[in-house]
Amino acid sequence: MRMLDIIAKKRLAGKHTDEEIAFVVKAASDPQVGVPDYQLTSWLMAVCCRGMDEAETAALTKAMALSGRRLDLAGLKAPKVDKHSTGGVGDGISLALAPLMAAAGLVVPMMSGRGLGHTGGTLDKLEAMKGFRVRMAIDEITAQLGRIGVCMFGQTQDLAPADRTLYSLRDASSTVESIPLVVASILSKKFAEDLDALVLDVKIGSGAIFKNPQEAQALSRALVKTARKLGLKSVAVLTAMDQPLGRYVGNSLEVIQAVEILKGDFTSADYAECLLTLGGWMMHLGGKARTPKEGAVKLEAVIRSGAAFKSFQDMVAAHGADPAVADDLSLLPKSALVREIKAPKAGFIAWLDARKVGEAAVILGAGRANKDSQLDYGAGFFLDKKVGAQVAKGETIAHIHGSDEARIQEAAAYFLTALKVEAKKPKPMPVIRQVVK
Ligand code: URA
Repeated sequence: MRMLDIIAKKRLAGKHTDEEIAFVVKAASDPQVGVPDYQLTSWLMAVCCRGMDEAETAALTKAMALSGRRLDLAGLKAPKVDKHSTGGVGDGISLALAPLMAAAGLVVPMMSGRGLGHTGGTLDKLEAMKGFRVRMAIDEITAQLGRIGVCMFGQTQDLAPADRTLYSLRDASSTVESIPLVVASILSKKFAEDLDALVLDVKIGSGAIFKNPQEAQALSRALVKTARKLGLKSVAVLTAMDQPLGRYVGNSLEVIQAVEILKGDFTSADYAECLLTLGGWMMHLGGKARTPKEGAVKLEAVIRSGAAFKSFQDMVAAHGADPAVADDLSLLPKSALVREIKAPKAGFIAWLDARKVGEAAVILGAGRANKDSQLDYGAGFFLDKKVGAQVAKGETIAHIHGSDEARIQEAAAYFLTALKVEAKKPKPMPVIRQVVK
């Protein structure tokens, strides 16, 4: 079989056989096969443009899922449940959710990724805590899950290796927005976790992979259907990503957001609603609550008891970082400069485009402009005001954190292009849009 023939077939909108898909996946997981990155990238672009049908998507997902080893969590009695988000801006939910669910009695093996395009990545946020180790061997992951019920780790050559290669090529080649590629990418990682159930957070809106509701719904259906084919109980919750989630955007800053809520500060109401809704579904699918609503109520009590915060500290210590960081957030990396962004006129904030805020964060160094960019962990935004807030002309609407004055000025100007201030108060925008079962 030749990679060139496979690329040409998809370029001409052909349908792949299972054998062709297996060949591509083998090539992505094993450098010995000798298929160069540019051919894999060319195939990714052909899939992006020509698509894949249900059978091809299932075959790709299965082949990627089986491309590496799998955790074996049969020895752990508690239900194994995870959540995966399609990615957004300010979406640091996993940082709070994983330890919260462990405190509520679930086992959460959470394999996470790095930033993709304008969206942040959980691993980058965790690594803002100095010493936090996400590269772990399978035995270590299993042992930690047995000890504290939660482990947050990155892909390795053992776990979902095909996705590891394809994900970084997609990020660097504008081939992220493809339903079959997203489905296979997410589910291959989740399959390797040996889960009982999975909750999918499918973002919808300007900062999401798919902006339009029809595409986000199609992605949700494809994810749930393909997950079932892999024997995984799952639901998809469509959540808003028109404006950034919560009040913080950036790596250290999103750790602060997670710690705030785990300490019982629910000021970021949209973040709290998203956290408790997704967690409520995890409780329900994991058999710990009769309904998702009951699950959410139980989780709120777990937070108020202090157990969720303790679980976060245990997790930070288990991964090799200093758990004191949770009590003393000044230990997190900080950018040298903090400037204010002011409202250009009086009125109501009618729009704060999540994608543009994410792109502005990349300008500051909170995300990667290319594969080898160094992150500025302290960089990003604190949003003093969000959509619906009334502002006076010149009032501070955001704080911008960065290390370089020129970049700060560029990012601040770009941030202002994300903002619309209007005379009329906008209609409230619900955070939870739909559940696909
Ligand atoms: N998250 C993933 O893990 N993969 C994608 O392709 C998109 C979001």
